Amino acid sequence: MPAFSVERVYTVEPRGFCAGVERAIDVVEQALQVFGSPVYVRKEIVHNKFVVEDLKKKGAIFVEEVAEVPDGSVLIFSAHGISPMVREQAKQKQMKTIDATCPLVTKVHLEVFRFVKDGYRIVLIGHKGHDEVVGTMGESPENITLVGSVKEVEQLSFSPEQKLIYLTQTTLSVDETKEIVLALKQKFPQMIAPPSEDICYATQNRQDAIKELVKVAELVLVVGSKNSSNSIRLVEVARELGAKSYLIDGIQDIHEEWFDGIKSVGVSSGASAPELLVQGVLQYFRDKGVQHIGGMQVIKENMFFPLPRNLQKAVQVKNNNLGNPLHVLE
Ligand code: SF4
Repeated sequence: MPAFSVERVYTVEPRGFCAGVERAIDVVEQALQVFGSPVYVRKEIVHNKFVVEDLKKKGAIFVEEVAEVPDGSVLIFSAHGISPMVREQAKQKQMKTIDATCPLVTKVHLEVFRFVKDGYRIVLIGHKGHDEVVGTMGESPENITLVGSVKEVEQLSFSPEQKLIYLTQTTLSVDETKEIVLALKQKFPQMIAPPSEDICYATQNRQDAIKELVKVAELVLVVGSKNSSNSIRLVEVARELGAKSYLIDGIQDIHEEWFDGIKSVGVSSGASAPELLVQGVLQYFRDKGVQHIGGMQVIKENMFFPLPRNLQKAVQVKNNNLGNPLHVLE
C-alpha cells in the first residue's frame, strides 16, 4: 500500500446540526424526561443512524406507522412532517401527540394549503418517497404533481389557463433546483414562485460552505447517513465542482485507498449528523500523523426554533408540580 499522502485536513462551518434537528432531538429527550419511557416516535426523528440509536438507548421506541403504537401512548412526529391522514390516525387511537416537524417544513405545508385554496395546481420539486415529500403531498394529493428532474418537467402537461405554483422540498440541491425551476417557467409561463424560498437556510448554507471547501480540498468527506437528503446533496455539490467526495456515517466507513495521492481533505457534515462523529473523523487523520488540521467559517448561523407549545407547557407542569403533564397533550 502506498504511504499515506494526506498533509492537510480542513473542516468547514456551518456544518452539522441545523435548528430543526436540534429541536427534534430535544423534543424526544424532553418528552422522555417529562413522561418517562416509553415514548413512541413515528419514523426516524431525523435521518441519522447514530442519533436514532442514541435515543433508543434513552427509551424512545421508533415505529414506521401509527398502527404499531398502543392506543393512548405518547407519540412524536418526526422533523420531516406528516400528512393530515397520519394526524387523523393518531387521533382515532387517542394518542398524546407532539409534533417535531421542522417549522420550515410546516411553512411548505401551509403554502400548499393556501395556494390550493386559491385554485392553484402545485408542482412540488422533490424526491419521490422521501418522508418530507410524502407528508407535503399528503396535504392535498389530488392537487400536487411531483417532479424530480428537468426530464420529468418535459413530460408535464397543463392547460395555459391552469394557475400554477412550484414549491420545493427543503433539502434539495440549490443549483439543480434552479435548473428545474427554469424549465418549469419556460414550459409554463404562468408558473409563479413561492412567496419565499422553500429550500431551507441550513441546506443553502451547507452547500455554500462546501463550494468554498472544494477550493482547498481535493477530496471531501461528508458525515451523514445514506437516507439523509441534505447530506447526499453535499456530496453531489462537491463532485459537481470536481472534488472526489464520499458520504460516511463515521470513521468505520472510511477506506484508506480513497486517499492515495491525495494531499488535502475537507470534512463537513449533514444537518442531522452529530459533531461527535466529525471529531472521530478528525482523530482518524491525527492518528495517521496529519499535523495540519484547520477550520474555515463561511457563514455564521444563529437560528433557533423553540420546542412545540404543548411540550413547553408539559415541561412547566412537570417542573412546577402542577398536575399530570399528560393532560396537556391532546
Ligand atoms: Fe428544518 Fe432545514 Fe433542518 Fe430540515 S434541514 S430540519 S428543513 S432546518
